[in-house]
Amino acid sequence: MKKAHVAFCLIVMGSLSGNQFLRAADPAHPDQPAVAPAEAISKLKEGNGRYTSGSLQHPSQTTERRTEVAKGQHPFAIIVSCSDSRVPPEIVFDQGLGDLFVLRVAGNVINDESRGSIEYAVDHFGVRLILVLGHQRCGAVEAAKETIAAKGRAPAHIQSLVTAIKPAVESTVKGDLDATIKANVDYVVNALRSSEPILKPKLNSGDLQVIGGYYSLDTGAVTFLDEK
Ligand SMILES: [Zn+2]
Repeated sequence: MKKAHVAFCLIVMGSLSGNQFLRAADPAHPDQPAVAPAEAISKLKEGNGRYTSGSLQHPSQTTERRTEVAKGQHPFAIIVSCSDSRVPPEIVFDQGLGDLFVLRVAGNVINDESRGSIEYAVDHFGVRLILVLGHQRCGAVEAAKETIAAKGRAPAHIQSLVTAIKPAVESTVKGDLDATIKANVDYVVNALRSSEPILKPKLNSGDLQVIGGYYSLDTGAVTFLDEK
């Protein structure tokens, strides 16, 4: 991110508010309306339906689309998902270039840098839906569960993942791996919902929605856990 870009963003943030800001955030497309959360959820559900039924459309992957989004991006959803090679959001939701703003870290956890990236996408691109996507048999959650149960410590920087997933592990000590995976999604959802000063006020005003999801490796289906 260039300094001039940040400066522009801050100037826009300081001079506009609400829908006015959302519509004027990208100077290349000043009239591009933001996609409402309910519409964004529908697009994700429809895309996942195409994926699970084997009728992928591979939208937005043409040369024309590449040329179009080279001028500016308007992703309709932010996806916080696991780095697991079997859960690529663009494929499981049948989307293409410029559609999804994706953050992938093992165990779909967030750190300051990813939180800043999310805030940037919400403020600069006007994205109004965040989906935190956990998945079946998540190795990061499983490893965290086993490491904590053994009162051990994971090697090198892997311990940082164990620490991030620890709250979910501790809240589901008697539960199975799926319970911990879903609790971990909930934990990240709640962390984003309560994130000040950018995300929480937008949630309260209805400009933003943060929901959780669970991806089945076996069926390819995404279950939306909480659409509040
Ligand atoms: Zn995983």
